[in-house]
Amino acid sequence: MKKTTKFIVAKRIFILAILGGAVYAVTSYFNISIWYVVLFGIFTGVIFGKVFCRWMCPIGFIMEMIMGGGSQSQFSNMYQYHKMGCPIAWASGFLNKWSLFQIKVDTDSCIKCGKCDKECYISTLEPQKYSLYKPEKQQSGSSYSCSKCLKCVAACPNGSLKYKM
Ligand code: SF4
Ligand code: SF4
Repeated sequence: MKKTTKFIVAKRIFILAILGGAVYAVTSYFNISIWYVVLFGIFTGVIFGKVFCRWMCPIGFIMEMIMGGGSQSQFSNMYQYHKMGCPIAWASGFLNKWSLFQIKVDTDSCIKCGKCDKECYISTLEPQKYSLYKPEKQQSGSSYSCSKCLKCVAACPNGSLKYKM
């Protein structure tokens, strides 16, 4: 399971390219109103949180290409981008707190290595406020700006961090 998560997260940009392209092609071909796409984004937000931007959005893919989202040095750009976004991002970002799937830490098995925080632009840029494993801080995964890249989950060496119901 751990290997599968790592593999999917490592290939996320390709998944985004395929799903984003499919969203664009289907909406263009069938002339689907943008509001149905917004509703779809909100629906996915209720279940998964803010997943649309980095897994399915054609604009998200273009922005990530421009901003170099795969590079550690582009944390700041991605953080700023995911603080703004579009109506889908606004709604699904607020749903990060209440979505059915959440990023959860198992405090019993967590060895407090901090690898998860190092992979996250939120925890990295606002360490005084956010963390994925420190209980005294706000949870990065339920903040508005978490775009469910799941790099934090993939980085955890012993599976203490999970994205689950
Ligand atoms: S999924 Fe994890 S690494 Fe990605 S933005 Fe959310 S908390 Fe940060
Ligand atoms: S990477 Fe995993 S073990 Fe390390 S601090 Fe984060 S949750 Fe804990």
